Amino acid sequence: MASSGSGARRVAYFYDAEIGNFHYGQGHPMKPHRVRMTHNLVVNYGLYRQMEVFRPKPINSALMTRFHSDDYVNFLRVITPDNMHEYLRQLQRFNVGEDCPVFDGLFEFCQLYTSGSIGGAVRLNQQWSDIVINWAGGLHHAKKSEASGFCYINDCVLGILELLKRHERVLYIDIDIHHGDGVEEAFYTTNRVMTVSFHKFGEYFPGTGDVHDVGYDEGKNYAINFPLHDGMDDDSFKSIFRPVIGKVIEVFRPGAVVMQCGADSLSGDRLGCFNLSLRGHADCVAYVRSFGIPMLVLGGGGYTLRNVPRVWTYETAVLLGVEIKDVLPYNDYFEYYGPDYRLHMPVSNMENLNSAEYLEHIKTQLFGVLDQVEPAPGVQIKADPAVGGPSAEPQAANGQQRATVGDMVATNADQTPTVPAFAAPAERVVANISAEAAEAAADMATDDANDDNMDTRPSADHKRAHPAEFYDVTD
Ligand SMILES: [Zn+2]
Repeated sequence: MASSGSGARRVAYFYDAEIGNFHYGQGHPMKPHRVRMTHNLVVNYGLYRQMEVFRPKPINSALMTRFHSDDYVNFLRVITPDNMHEYLRQLQRFNVGEDCPVFDGLFEFCQLYTSGSIGGAVRLNQQWSDIVINWAGGLHHAKKSEASGFCYINDCVLGILELLKRHERVLYIDIDIHHGDGVEEAFYTTNRVMTVSFHKFGEYFPGTGDVHDVGYDEGKNYAINFPLHDGMDDDSFKSIFRPVIGKVIEVFRPGAVVMQCGADSLSGDRLGCFNLSLRGHADCVAYVRSFGIPMLVLGGGGYTLRNVPRVWTYETAVLLGVEIKDVLPYNDYFEYYGPDYRLHMPVSNMENLNSAEYLEHIKTQLFGVLDQVEPAPGVQIKADPAVGGPSAEPQAANGQQRATVGDMVATNADQTPTVPAFAAPAERVVANISAEAAEAAADMATDDANDDNMDTRPSADHKRAHPAEFYDVTD
C-alpha cells in the first residue's frame, strides 16, 4: 500500500486573494493575512507553476448545514458589528464575541475558507487531483452550533463529509498544537472516520483530547489522541507520529486523508509551546504523502506571523516533491523575514518535557486501542445505486463505491467528547444517530444539485485562477 515518497502527484491549490483582507480585530492573534503571505511566498518560489491554482467557488450556506445547525448558520449570515447589539442572546448562545469576534465580512470569510475545503474534497472525489491544498482552512474547533477557538464553520468536518460520499473510510490527522476537538466530536460515534490528534494536553485550550477518549459506540477505538507536554522537538515528534500513523493506516485503510497542519506547533509560536522546526512539522506531511492516498491538506492555527508562511510554503514544496532553496526569494512581505531572510528558522533551547518513556507509554496505549480496530476489509461495501441517482456520479466507474444510506455517517455534535464514553446517556446518543442519519440521507438526495454548484473544473463561471492571469504577483 505504501508507495515511495518520490512519485509525482497531481496537486491542486485553492486560494482566494480576498482572504487576507479580513481582520478579527486589533490585537487578535488570528490573522488571515498569513494566508496571503503564504501565497505570496509560494508564488515567488515559483511553486504555482507545478500545481493547478484555483479560486474556490463560494459555497452556499445550505452546504454548511450538512454539519452546522440552521439557526447557527443563519446567525453567522446576518450578524455584523453594526447590528450585534440586537443579538445579545444569540451571541452568547453561539459563543461569538470574545475569542471568536464579530467582524466585517465574517460570513464571507467563513465561505471563502470553507469553499476551498469542500471544493478540494470534490476534486479528490472526482480524481482530478491526488492532493489538494487549502491553507485558509483547517478551522477545527468549530462545533455544530457554536464558534470556538477562532473557528466559526468547521471546514474540516464539511470536507470529510464530502469525501464520505465516495470513500468508505476517511482519516483525519491533526498536528495543530491544540486538540482537534470539533472534528473528533462530529465523528465520535462513527467508524467511518478515524480522527487522530497530536496536541498539548493539560491546562491548555480546549481541554479535551485525553488518551482515554477513544470514541463511542460504533466509533469506539476510532478516535485517537496523543496528549503531549511542552517542548516537543523534531525527533520526539517523528518517533511517535510515524509509528502511530503507520499503524493507523495499516488497520484503518482510509480511502482519503484530511490533514490539518496547524502551524502553532512550531517553535516560537505566540500561543504554542512546542519546539518543532519546519522540517519536523513537514516530516509529518511527507510521511502521510508517502502512502499515496488522496489528501486534503489544510491550514489551522499559527500565530507567529513570520513563521506560518515559512512552514506552509515549505510543505507546499514537500507535497509537490520538489526542493526549494533556503534563501528566501524577494516577495511582498520580505521585511517580515528578517534578520536572516531564510526559509528555515532555528528552534529554541527550551526543555522537552516529554520523556522518551512517556512517549513510549502513550504510544503503547494507542497501539492497544488500534489493535481492537477490526481490520478494514480489502473489498469495500457494496454501492447502493438508489442513492443520489445515476447522474450524480459521472466518473463513478473507478472502483470507489458509494456508501449506502444506512452506513451514512452519524454526527453527534451535541455530545461532548470529554464525557466518559459509558457515562453518556445511551438513548440520547441513539436518538442523535437516527436523526442525523435521516438528515444525512435527505442531504444525499439533493446532492445532484449541490455537486453542480461545487464543480471546480475550469469553466466560464468558475475560472481556474492561474496566478499569471488572476494574481498580480504583488497581490
Ligand atoms: Zn491551534
